[in-house]
Amino acid sequence: ETVFLNGEFVKRKHAKVDIEDRGYQFGDGIYEVIRVYGGDVFTMNEHMERLYQSAEKMKLKIPFDLQELTSIVFKLIEANEVNEGIVYMQVSRGISPRQHHFPGEDVSGSVIAYTKEIPRPLKEMQEGVTATLVEDIRWLRCDIKSLNLLGNILAKEEASSKGHFEAIQHRGETVTEGSSSNAFIVKDGTVFTHPATNLILNGITRRVIKDMADKNGVPFVEQIFTVDELLSADEIFIASTTSEVMPVIKVNDVTIGQGMPGPVTTKLQEWFTASIKSECKI
Ligand code: PMP
Repeated sequence: ETVFLNGEFVKRKHAKVDIEDRGYQFGDGIYEVIRVYGGDVFTMNEHMERLYQSAEKMKLKIPFDLQELTSIVFKLIEANEVNEGIVYMQVSRGISPRQHHFPGEDVSGSVIAYTKEIPRPLKEMQEGVTATLVEDIRWLRCDIKSLNLLGNILAKEEASSKGHFEAIQHRGETVTEGSSSNAFIVKDGTVFTHPATNLILNGITRRVIKDMADKNGVPFVEQIFTVDELLSADEIFIASTTSEVMPVIKVNDVTIGQGMPGPVTTKLQEWFTASIKSECKI
């Protein structure tokens, strides 16, 4: 297994990180997860663009340009012969004696990347999954895809310890997003999702879904909805790079719609698969 570590392709067992890497000590860094289908990347430009945007928002300099990062992604997929999986890429603010303030200009960011085989969650997508509600205790810059994921981790653990696939987070009455996904409801044929503000990550999957809805004449509204509206929705789905369009058929003890993936969600899944097929060999 080949990984990328600070400018070099090395075997995973030789890839060691420094104990004073700021990613390790502070979560001071950013990351992206890019999907691979049939050995081809899906929406890579969007992920790369978001990586640079996250970097800019936290005044982090990525020591490689877009072309270099792109070539790292392709090289790893080829070296590891990834078929259906992901490329994980992370940039931290580098290695320097532990001090909260930024290190000097001489300290370069640390870049790591690796691949992993992860099949499409076809069974879950077909049957639907369950979710629980968790108060959103995260900070106010959820638009940055930062390594600091403690709030997300605690939410996901609460869900998973109760046997749920995802935690749907809410700030008071307002539903924000999942712990590692965006959240959507369908009411009377219209799709609602939280607007792309500082309170959510503007998912790449979310953007593909919006495009497909727009192209196919399904009303798609970026507008906040409440926990009550979630629980009385006709359909709920969550979406992410690894989970795609994932129907939620139950929230805690409340059955959503008919307790099975709804018609709008199913259509969006079909269009999403078509969109994958337009970029990748699956
Ligand atoms: N919100 C959060 C908090 C996430 O962690 C993710 C997954 N990275 C998403 C939304 C979905 O983003 P994407 O579709 O780009 O994977």
